[in-house]
Amino acid sequence: MSERYDYIIVGAGLAGASAVEGVREVDTSGQVLLLGAEPDRPYHRPPLSKKLWFGDEKVEGVFVHDADFYAEQGVKLGLGTQVVKLDPRARTVTTADGSQYQYGKLLLATGGVPRRLAIPGGDIPEICYFRTRQDYLALRAGAVPGAHALVIGGGFIGSELACALAHAQVQVTMLFPSSHVCSRVFPHGLGDALGARLSARGITILAFDKPISIHHTGHRFHTETEGGRKIESDLLVAGVGVSPATELALQGGLRVDGGICVNQYLQTSAPDIYAAGDNAVFPSALLGRPVRVEHWDNALNQGRLAGKNMAGAHAPYAYSPYFFSDLFDFGYEAVGDVDARHETFADWQQTNEKGVIYYLENALVRGVMLCNVWGQVDAARALIMAQTRGSAEALRGAIPFGD
Ligand code: NAP
Repeated sequence: MSERYDYIIVGAGLAGASAVEGVREVDTSGQVLLLGAEPDRPYHRPPLSKKLWFGDEKVEGVFVHDADFYAEQGVKLGLGTQVVKLDPRARTVTTADGSQYQYGKLLLATGGVPRRLAIPGGDIPEICYFRTRQDYLALRAGAVPGAHALVIGGGFIGSELACALAHAQVQVTMLFPSSHVCSRVFPHGLGDALGARLSARGITILAFDKPISIHHTGHRFHTETEGGRKIESDLLVAGVGVSPATELALQGGLRVDGGICVNQYLQTSAPDIYAAGDNAVFPSALLGRPVRVEHWDNALNQGRLAGKNMAGAHAPYAYSPYFFSDLFDFGYEAVGDVDARHETFADWQQTNEKGVIYYLENALVRGVMLCNVWGQVDAARALIMAQTRGSAEALRGAIPFGD
């Protein structure tokens, strides 16, 4: 006999935690079960590669809610619990220990799984494929001054952690295949300038290269690269992208295409099953195509709306992509589609330091990156929503730099 819940949320990350809030906004008494594979209750990921390394913020402060929140909300919390089976016909999920639960409405907030390096040694357990609070704790413990870390990947995780580790006085080498850091979002000139900024802080940057094998002996990593380099390190951290966790959806026969496909109400191809967060592909009115977003505020907003809709709200998801990052004293906020493949126009107050980059597709502003420019996210959103067309000159000054 399986226990029955009105709402089952699979995935106790930010999207799952936000969904609890969303459900409770609409339905104050329905029975809710929140299941998560990690041992920790829901927490925010951004501090793990940013503030926890630089400021006074403590790792105990990253949780989304106080420990007693879930009990207060009448939510049963199952941590360290892997869901291994979804049966949409029987409306059940089954966990690794064989327990079965029946749902009224189900949310798949299963997030993403760090990609592994498909090379000899890529599966060595000591490699830190950085993603979780437990990964942070392990890396922090090994990040002693003078240790040498090899950071593989020059994207969000790679660049943020390189800065974090360098700040902790670790000797950092970055290795990535493209020409500059965060090549998916930064135009070439800015990427090169940021690379120079990282180098000035003692980080060795090895671009246009990638690992071909890794060995781990005597507590040291030995990495060989395609370019013929041999790199020794005490720590090896990899941030080489994330894949959406879609196994349960596939197993349940739901539509999956680069993620779990949902409509504007965040319903999957099975109407009583919803998906939200890193794993969901949703129609973006703003961008005019389906997108999957791996950033913090999407998990927050989408999770909350999925919860409300499961409880009967039926509101469409209208969202403009947003994320933020800090690389030492270069802080930026990105709104809309900041894809480096777009044509870009940079309106600098101070070149590669402070200014606004506009991302254009057929002369239409699709995305805006605010570089050390604060308080202008709404203005950037408005510009994108207004379907602004602009030549470079017309855009100059469209968003003020502030002080
Ligand atoms: P990412 O930003 O997609 O970067 C992946 C990096 O790995 C790229 O530099 C890529 O190089 C490199 N790479 C791919 N294959 C490689 C290989 N075989 N050897 C060496 N390098 C390789 O992914 P991520 O940094 O792992 O971050 C994962 C997700 O977490 C992101 O999608 C992001 O949304 C989220 N995140 C967000 C933030 C934020 O919003 N501030 C911060 C941290 C994480 P190429 O560019 O040359 O392909």
